[in-house]
Amino acid sequence: MKAITASPYIESPRGLSSSKGRLYIATFGCQMNEYDSQQMAQILSRDYQLATRPEDADVIIVNTCSIREKAENKVYSLVGRFRRLKEEKPDLIIGIGGCVAQQQGKSLFQKAPYVDIVFGPQGVAHLPNLLREAKKGRKPVCFTSQDRDYNIPFVNAPLPEKNPTRAFVTIMQGCNNFCTYCVVPYVRGREVSRPAEDILSEIRMVIQQGVKEITLLGQNVNSYGKGTSSLPSFAELLKDCSRVPGLERLRFTTSHPKDLTRDVMKCFRDLPNLCEHLHLPVQSGSTSVLKHMNRRYTRDDYLRLIDELRMLCPEITLTTDLIVGFPGETEKDFQQTISLLERVQFDQIFAFKYSPRPFTRAAGFSSQVPEDVKSRRLTEVLALQNEIGLRRYQSLEGKTMEVLVEGPNKTRPDELIARTRGNHVVNIPGPDSLTGHLVQVTVEKACYHSLRGKLTSEDESDMREKYGIDSNVCTCDNP
Ligand code: SF4
Repeated sequence: MKAITASPYIESPRGLSSSKGRLYIATFGCQMNEYDSQQMAQILSRDYQLATRPEDADVIIVNTCSIREKAENKVYSLVGRFRRLKEEKPDLIIGIGGCVAQQQGKSLFQKAPYVDIVFGPQGVAHLPNLLREAKKGRKPVCFTSQDRDYNIPFVNAPLPEKNPTRAFVTIMQGCNNFCTYCVVPYVRGREVSRPAEDILSEIRMVIQQGVKEITLLGQNVNSYGKGTSSLPSFAELLKDCSRVPGLERLRFTTSHPKDLTRDVMKCFRDLPNLCEHLHLPVQSGSTSVLKHMNRRYTRDDYLRLIDELRMLCPEITLTTDLIVGFPGETEKDFQQTISLLERVQFDQIFAFKYSPRPFTRAAGFSSQVPEDVKSRRLTEVLALQNEIGLRRYQSLEGKTMEVLVEGPNKTRPDELIARTRGNHVVNIPGPDSLTGHLVQVTVEKACYHSLRGKLTSEDESDMREKYGIDSNVCTCDNP
């Protein structure tokens, strides 16, 4: 799974009709949740324009994540803050969507009586009706489907109005794996793959709008098309996507190691626009813990995949997810995780302390690890990874590479955020107008989680002439 990130609020597109209502969406969690929020905005766009502040909204939706306890608690704290707004503006509609809503259902109305709508991921497509009912005074309104096979219809997500450089395209939803710590199969239903032609036509459409980079999105993209004869395999889909004219960069997430085939790995070698980065969640370096997690691969299986990937594509960047303190994890198991980190040398990891989640089997396991032990292990893992990651980033110093400029650095307006094919963030001096361009940069300095670079002299003189580039001050997270 991808790391939990704080919510990027969807910003208000400019120039929409002021006669529409105002909608504010706060999103917690993974890229699937961000995508769902975009779908909500799309579905409601006929009647609502997006507000940048909750104070300005007629409807507030909090799209929640329950993958970890900490993320869930953040949701309750944010929703609590909206209570005051409701007191000031009684017509305000407050909805809670996403995984916490699916999991908690109507009990959320007891915890937060000022909430009007509760809906799970399956309720996204029904939002207009749910809002209508809530406005008619039929409160509270709850849509948390218990039909585990019912998935959200696939909807093309809207692009940001200004400089759309990257886009996510959903290729499948749900998960069949039932890792013992994970709520996803309970709240998002079973795997459903999207027709390949719909995926390709969405890609063609967003490229026409200026997008350079596509990330194919799903809980377990490697099992795309499994069990159906009418759909291509994931490797075949990758090849089809990579052939779409105008697509400069292709990525995908998230992958399950047990479903990563040699054909998919070969795509990193063979497809010129498939970026050399794979996020491959390992979760633990101990075969015994992996078994209790129901991951269905061993430590050796995982290491074999890594070796094969590096043989096929030596420059590939690898990142992963890790859980420390899973029930029953002994010191010896934990040391296996440490040694796996040393062996693989990931560029980045997303590590978390295990937290029991409702519905999941692991929540009932008897051998829960004490909190202080989990904390110590997390600190140890992060300290080791900081050293490894910095060394990996330092190995790029002096190299020249292609980056896609994503936009201005919000904290330094004279700087830009760009991304390498290996998914490293590079800060470069330059004007906003470079956004959406692929340029060559030379890496000058490595920091813990980013790089500092400058345009290569050829690009620079060209760009200086065009845009008047100046400044070369390092502002990143220096060691
Ligand atoms: S593969 Fe496992 S961790 Fe990932 S979504 Fe499915 S059940 Fe959760």
